[in-house]
Amino acid sequence: MIPNWLLKRSSLTPSRTALSFCGKQWTFQELKQEADLIARKLRMNGLEEGDRIALLGPSNPDMVFVIHGCLLAGLEIVMLNSRLSTKEILWQLGDANASLLIVEDELLRQTKIQDVPMITFSSLQSSEQRDFTISKMWNGSRTITIMYTSGTTGFPKGVRQTAGNHTSSALSSVLNLGLTEEDSWLCTMPLFHISGFSILVRSVIYGMEVKLYEKFDTKTIVDEIRNGTATRMSVVATSLRRILEEFEETETVAHPTFRTMLAGGGPVPDDFLRRAESRKLPVLQTYGMTETSSQTATLSSEDALRKSGSAGKPLFFNQIKIRDTEQPGELGEVLIAGPHVTPGYIGHAVDRDPLEDGWLPTGDIGYFDDEGYLFIVDRRSDLIISGGENIYPAEVENALLSHPLVKEAGVCGQSHPVWGSVPVAFIVLSGDVAEEELDMHCGELLARYKIPKAYYFVDQLPRNASNKLLRRELKEWASLK
Ligand code: ATP
Ligand code: MG
Repeated sequence: MIPNWLLKRSSLTPSRTALSFCGKQWTFQELKQEADLIARKLRMNGLEEGDRIALLGPSNPDMVFVIHGCLLAGLEIVMLNSRLSTKEILWQLGDANASLLIVEDELLRQTKIQDVPMITFSSLQSSEQRDFTISKMWNGSRTITIMYTSGTTGFPKGVRQTAGNHTSSALSSVLNLGLTEEDSWLCTMPLFHISGFSILVRSVIYGMEVKLYEKFDTKTIVDEIRNGTATRMSVVATSLRRILEEFEETETVAHPTFRTMLAGGGPVPDDFLRRAESRKLPVLQTYGMTETSSQTATLSSEDALRKSGSAGKPLFFNQIKIRDTEQPGELGEVLIAGPHVTPGYIGHAVDRDPLEDGWLPTGDIGYFDDEGYLFIVDRRSDLIISGGENIYPAEVENALLSHPLVKEAGVCGQSHPVWGSVPVAFIVLSGDVAEEELDMHCGELLARYKIPKAYYFVDQLPRNASNKLLRRELKEWASLK
């Protein structure tokens, strides 16, 4: 059994700050009061323990209150991604079979969702309340959230994330990163994604402040890091790039009390890690996915510089092995086990067992070095086989991104009469660069066969709602060239 996070936390440290947003703050006691009210209103709207609702809202305090209200009311929350198209949202609603959609008023106006049972944040606020007894303890197997995978390799799958999954994930994280009373986690990651949601979970389990931002305003974020008003943050490569650019333009560095920038969700270019180091930004790479309720492996701060480029070691409760390998350095599919691994999918993927012999196959290729540090190489499905040689697009992108005028790079295979497939690059530039210069630059860093055989200059790369590069779309672009 697991203690009801917010009930327990608000009884332990009621007057500590739980949430800050636009200069306003809420203590854990106040957060509990807000959530309690929402929970009673949800009951009045006919929702009972174990019911599944879908939630569509922005990253603001009302959303946090509704999330915690749903948890106190014992509901399963399908976290909908507000960056999806209306058609995609409707598809997920149908796939998840939620009994009610709870939607923020402005997002309802924007998406124009109709003909589904729903209630807006404002009508929920003005509802009457119904009293009920809130469970003090949760079963570890209780589903807390259902999140859809990003849909990078195919159709998104609805993943069940239980109380046990989230709790062990938060505990593993703190056993690696540590915690002080001054800690405050800057949250600019979406709450509907595990990267953002897991920050809320850590906050109630640890008793730690979350500084929530609805929008990513680079200057404001960098000010928090520079002034030491936040100590932790989670980023993906694109937000890290914007942060680095701001630090470099202003020729400033991070405040010494800023302790961790967790970078994950996809590969982080080595060049970013080097630049972060010179800005005194302690970036720790982490590897995780929706199916593992956030981090599975993360670098520790003492290894940050020495093992730059690695995603660290499996966290305390977690295990990782590389399929069919015996020696360090051998590449293979990453397999994961641990209490943070989902018990299963819902909807169209419900019959798909996430585990094979007790291990979650990830579709990612990686290896352990001889000290047991994990390196993620790329997704198996994106591998380019050129004349019998394996080329991982991420390595080529990494080389391209270390050129100062290459802003974004996406590499994929293009069919070739002799080699079967050759790497080609789609590039977003921030200044004029000739193809020959890119060739020379790559030639210094990569084996010949890995150097792109063509460069296509574009205004932007295809990305999904999680901002991940869609290499399957790049392959389509390449096939039309
Ligand atoms: P789908 O499963 O629908 O194709 P997705 O795998 O992108 O989408 P997520 O669960 O959001 O959905 O992302 C997890 C994936 O992100 C991992 O499987 C891995 O490919 C990638 N990833 C996460 N962290 C890292 C990292 N540190 N380095 C490289 N890739 C990473
Ligand atoms: Mg996946």
